[in-house]
Amino acid sequence: MAEQSGTSKITVRTTCPYCGVGCGVNAKPDMRGGAEISGDGDHPANFGRLCSKGSALGETFEPSSRLLHPQIDGANVSWDTALDHVASELARIRETHGPEAIAFYLSGQLLTEDYYVANKLAKGFIGTPNVDTNSRLCMASSVAGHKRAFGADVVPGCYEDLDQADVVVLVGSNTAWCHPILYQRIQKARQNRGTKVINIDPRRTATSEGADLQLSLLSGSDTCLWNGLLVWLADHHLLDLEYIAIHTDGYESALALARERAGTISRVALHTGLTPEEIRSFYQLWSSSERVVSCYSQGVNQAIQGTDKVNAIINCHLATGRISKPGCGPFSLTGQPNAMGGREVGGLANMLAAHMGFSHSERDIVRRFWNAPNLVTGEGLKAVEMFDAIDSGKIKALWVIGTNPAVSLPRADAMRAAMAKLEFFAVSEVVASNDTMRAAKVRLPAHGWGEKDGTVTNSERRISRQRKFLKPAGSSQPDWWILSQVAKRLGWGGSFAYRKPGDIFREHAALSGFENSGQRVFNIAGLASVNDAAYDALEPRQWPVTSIDRDTDRAFADGRFATPSGRARFIAVARMLDRPVSNDDRPMLLNTGRIRDQWHTMTRTGLVPRLASHISEPFVEIHPVDAAAVNIEDGALAQIATQHGVAIVRARVTDAMAPGTLFAPIHWSDDNSSQARIGALVHSAVDAISGQPDLKATPARLSAVEANYFGFFLTRTNSMPLDSMSLEGADVAYWSRAAIANASLTTFAVKGSFTDCTRIADAILGAGQQLSLVDDKTGILRAACVNDGSIDAVLFISTAKDLQPTQWLKELFSRQTHTEAERRAVLAGRSPEGAVDHGPIVCVCHQVGVNRIVKTISDGCRSTDEIGKACAAGTNCGSCLPELNRMILSTKARLFPAL
Ligand code: SF4
Repeated sequence: MAEQSGTSKITVRTTCPYCGVGCGVNAKPDMRGGAEISGDGDHPANFGRLCSKGSALGETFEPSSRLLHPQIDGANVSWDTALDHVASELARIRETHGPEAIAFYLSGQLLTEDYYVANKLAKGFIGTPNVDTNSRLCMASSVAGHKRAFGADVVPGCYEDLDQADVVVLVGSNTAWCHPILYQRIQKARQNRGTKVINIDPRRTATSEGADLQLSLLSGSDTCLWNGLLVWLADHHLLDLEYIAIHTDGYESALALARERAGTISRVALHTGLTPEEIRSFYQLWSSSERVVSCYSQGVNQAIQGTDKVNAIINCHLATGRISKPGCGPFSLTGQPNAMGGREVGGLANMLAAHMGFSHSERDIVRRFWNAPNLVTGEGLKAVEMFDAIDSGKIKALWVIGTNPAVSLPRADAMRAAMAKLEFFAVSEVVASNDTMRAAKVRLPAHGWGEKDGTVTNSERRISRQRKFLKPAGSSQPDWWILSQVAKRLGWGGSFAYRKPGDIFREHAALSGFENSGQRVFNIAGLASVNDAAYDALEPRQWPVTSIDRDTDRAFADGRFATPSGRARFIAVARMLDRPVSNDDRPMLLNTGRIRDQWHTMTRTGLVPRLASHISEPFVEIHPVDAAAVNIEDGALAQIATQHGVAIVRARVTDAMAPGTLFAPIHWSDDNSSQARIGALVHSAVDAISGQPDLKATPARLSAVEANYFGFFLTRTNSMPLDSMSLEGADVAYWSRAAIANASLTTFAVKGSFTDCTRIADAILGAGQQLSLVDDKTGILRAACVNDGSIDAVLFISTAKDLQPTQWLKELFSRQTHTEAERRAVLAGRSPEGAVDHGPIVCVCHQVGVNRIVKTISDGCRSTDEIGKACAAGTNCGSCLPELNRMILSTKARLFPAL
């Protein structure tokens, strides 16, 4: 628990900075600027387990990637110079154009204390309501759905419910990859107590591997499925009429509309594309099980009817009283580590602070508590509107803190161009470079994970401490300090005189309880008087915390909700199937999402070689029929084009996709790929209630990419110089870059002649002894650069579309000297005799490849436990367990068809 400066080897308990599961982490500084990482066995979110991303946290402390000093126009300056400049520019623009010309774009990565200060400065002192956050892209529809149903943005349940449920429904959530520790918890319950898992998702994912029922419904048809369930419950007399009568309003109108729009099973089948048997199985399982948790995530939230989807799910729980009881409830799984904390302090444009809105009385409470001279009068612009206002010139100044909107926003190309128009643009960041920072005039170095100190709140309303254990890089500072210093320069120093994060936390907690006689559920006033030592030692707590001794696992357990009547509201959900219509020009629908081992725009996880060993290139998943229609084979290059942008990525042809749909991950940026910023392709249609963009269904066209030669370049020293799309006169159709141990890997494709390829080889191999094998008849070029017996670079080019380095070739770079046999083997394009190639990596923790796992299955392993014993795969973080299960099934089917 002790506070560390990186000079002591005492283990510090902190929290993972990636997803909303909010796992506890033990970090033990290694005295070399890094730390040994393990799961915190006492943290109730994870009880000691960490997924692949969390396990690799100790490998993300890369000093060379950090922004170390404040910069103006790219030149290092002192903090005083930078802060004076920010304050004077904000004052000038406020004076000239009014406060609403200033906007803040924040992040679910920020600590609650940082978020609180940003929101207070903007909404209370500068007087701009234009404060929004990347959480708008993540869970704004859940917020809106909670407020409609419960009167407040409250997740009713807790993680224990997943252990106690008879049925867990996962809706629009690849939980196995995006919330891996919760997925493992659900799978444990499945194993131990027979919990049934239902996965509702248009595509089959790793999550499907652990599901008892997979419902691959049509994209956007969730409301129909859930309205149909409400009708089924009513028609089969499975409602909790007493609960409905005492604790809810609006049941009749919700049921009437559901009956009108969804009605019979056959109508639900028509709208959802599911078979009547599938629908009946789902309804029977859901309604016959007393304890049901329905978890939902981005597939629900990121849609133009996202809020309606949320309410259609909540309606069914209200109708059966399956809410706020052990093993029951609707459950929003937040994407980001502190999306919930941001909501607590009012980080969204449509919230004020401490879960208050903009009514006269709420504004008055906040104004008096802050002694705010310029409290805003109403809601500000939500993310997409905000960047449109930047484009139109209405917003002149933008301060981005801890996020990368040039990659992640819908229409990211247009948004990047809009940011270039700003009169003033500041970015507070940890990394030295990302797509957003390139256009920023002022760059402010912020503390990174391990350096900062404060709190985060996870998906189950649990507040945990992030604690510092490293010395800050360069002259970086905490975000709250940077904001407070600007406030001071703007003349409001007295209201921002915080000495440490504990001061801010106490103020935040006090505001939550200020004139709160129970009407606001978010209340942590019980923590408002913790002293510095108690704040430092704070154990994970679930709000509300109205007394220091008591927190709350399940909200609304007494059946009283936060509406004026105290009753929850059914919402009549009208829209059955509401998605963009594909057309002749763009006949496909593009769905976007995340992969197992990367986080957001890879500015941290992209630094870790083993996290790139499972998937190292941007890709698109395509149904075989769609791929065949445009002559795309598995492993070839594919172009996805929408009204807003174009991407070129690898094709993965799989029947896990529904025909007519595409799936592409969001992680790649211009730093590591030629043209794979998927945000640039996404349309900016939003949910009318929540303002959350629809990132799941952009009309798109798919086509094959012509290229004559394909290659990869492994280099110990410099990356392949491919920042443009041409190299040595050759047209480079595609490239992407990933970290591997002690080297980098660039894969690429060339439109041009074999002579172009030889020119590329001559140009990039570097100084040293160059070895090469060139065969222009077969179009094969293999080359290496050797220095003092060490292979420092390897280049392969051929006409094979799926040319990839073997694991053996990658592992060459983990050693400094190589034998003559190894050099010959490189040029021969095969592993030396005796060397075993384990194939592409599946288990990143133990670096176990496909071939080795398949061998264990062929040798008789029939379960993940047996595979683990044989080769260690799946025995650490467990993130690969769904893939191991799939491999057991497919290998058995291939090798032992009679079994
Ligand atoms: Fe971090 Fe993984 Fe836990 Fe999410 S599930 S908080 S990424 S360790």
